[in-house]
Amino acid sequence: MNRRHCALLAPRIQPPSTRFAGYPYLLSGSFMTESQLHDLMGRALAAARRAGARDEVPIGAALRLPDGRIFTAGNRVMGRRDPTAHAEIELTRRVIRALGGIRLPAGAVLAVTVEPCLMCLAALTHARVAAVHYGCPEPKWGSASRFAPLLEQAAFNHRFPIRGGLRAEEAAGLLKNYFKAKRAR
Ligand SMILES: [Zn+2]
Repeated sequence: MNRRHCALLAPRIQPPSTRFAGYPYLLSGSFMTESQLHDLMGRALAAARRAGARDEVPIGAALRLPDGRIFTAGNRVMGRRDPTAHAEIELTRRVIRALGGIRLPAGAVLAVTVEPCLMCLAALTHARVAAVHYGCPEPKWGSASRFAPLLEQAAFNHRFPIRGGLRAEEAAGLLKNYFKAKRAR
């Protein structure tokens, strides 16, 4: 194997600290300020509350396009009897149904109240999301912290920054209240 092949096969690993451009950041022409991200998570939290009102686990997501349009969706696993109907998947399908095409438009930034699972991270990679911001960590299925480095290293032709901790207390509070009420029943 010559040197060129070695270079091609070498994993393109970036240390975690360089995966994020920081706030506010510029991505695919989509500039979002701290205040816009705060508001976007507000829309995701509202979608999570609506999911809770349907007796779903209260997780919500919101997506902002570079032109300012915002779409939202909540978890619908129970309602659809579909274990894959997570908020991120519901939202991706909703946006693509509304706009046509087979992927998200360039520069689409997603906020989700809870750390995405591995399925959703893979789906968002396929959908070409520009960036993901999540609220609270999810120690069981949450995959951003554990698998983002894997997505970085793998030879995917689309990568995006993932950042947690946006309005985390509010997102965690919704989950806490939901499970507390469920146990009390
Ligand atoms: Zn998921």
